[in-house]
Amino acid sequence: MPIISTAGSRFADTVYADRLLRATAEAATRSIAALLVTPSADYEYLLGYRPPAMERLTCLVLPVDGVPALVVPRLEEPLARHAIGALADGIEIVPWEETDDPFQLVKGRLRGTLRVGLQDQMWSRFVLRLRALLDPAELVDASPAIGAVRRIKQPDEIDRLRAAASAADEAMLAITAERLSGRSEEEVSRRINELLLTAGHDTAQFAIVASGPNSASPHHSPGERVIQAGDAVVLDIGGTRDAYCSDTTRTAFVGEPPADFAAMYEVLRMAQAAACAAIAPGIPAREIDRAARQIIEEAGYGDAFMHRTGHGIGLETHEEPYIVESNDEPLVAGHAFSIEPGIYIADQWGARIEDIVVCTDAGGERLNTNSTELIVVE
Ligand code: ZN
Ligand code: ZN
Ligand code: ZN
Repeated sequence: MPIISTAGSRFADTVYADRLLRATAEAATRSIAALLVTPSADYEYLLGYRPPAMERLTCLVLPVDGVPALVVPRLEEPLARHAIGALADGIEIVPWEETDDPFQLVKGRLRGTLRVGLQDQMWSRFVLRLRALLDPAELVDASPAIGAVRRIKQPDEIDRLRAAASAADEAMLAITAERLSGRSEEEVSRRINELLLTAGHDTAQFAIVASGPNSASPHHSPGERVIQAGDAVVLDIGGTRDAYCSDTTRTAFVGEPPADFAAMYEVLRMAQAAACAAIAPGIPAREIDRAARQIIEEAGYGDAFMHRTGHGIGLETHEEPYIVESNDEPLVAGHAFSIEPGIYIADQWGARIEDIVVCTDAGGERLNTNSTELIVVE
């Protein structure tokens, strides 16, 4: 099985030591006595490597008081030691043999703990076992505690997001310089995957190519449809570079766009720009969504914008904070998220523009820097 991120993409050990301390402090403020973190983006965030999630339990036990422990299958002990480097000085590595019960080892580290935070993507077979074994402990979601740290990107993380974004921009410029008509969506999608890698991504994650009436489906899966003159084509692409994600969308039109499409697109463009301009520390996330939605609603397309304006991005393509009406959390410097309003007219066409932005003390900074103008392609 592949190891998702390699030693080459790690930050300094002190970065992870600091994250462990801060996550622990966040747990303490929520009256959580220990966090249990299985392989996931959270695990990678805290330790700098990501072993495969599998049936053999790997679990970081992070008590508020006491030494962190890493319960790992014996056969992955060398990998863990190698991966975490000098961080291992502050973490007790607890290998388990094939005949051991690793859940008892986790329990042994908790010493009668009553409120335990579980990583939010932990497999239910682990959760159910822990619930039975740790009874009457209260098991809660660890993501508010870990997420409080993880959602605020440090400058070295923003540098990586910026590098990933510019690689995606390069791939977008390259695909929209090619002739699209006469090629199937699938074919163009495969080509984008190549271009994402050529532009410097380590992995190509997705390449939505939605043409003609398919462009009205925000998460269309590229198929056999052949792109032709008169099509709107929504291109939503992303990958990872040094473990951080890119995600950008542009809309192209094959040939000269009709006036009604061009007018609709201009509304979208104004909405996307307004949302970017509204970003500042202290502004609730919902206000960013409203800034885009208001312009689209006033132009009469309110029902045609059926998704939230954006999502946080980092080690995962979708993470906190979400830019949606239900989120009144104030933005802070270091939040990184997408601004991606769309307008979708069923059976006819659709358009979306997506940039990754970061909230700074001076306002929003776009990490994707390509023009947002409608791209006319052949
Ligand atoms: Zn999406
Ligand atoms: Zn996207
Ligand atoms: Zn997105």
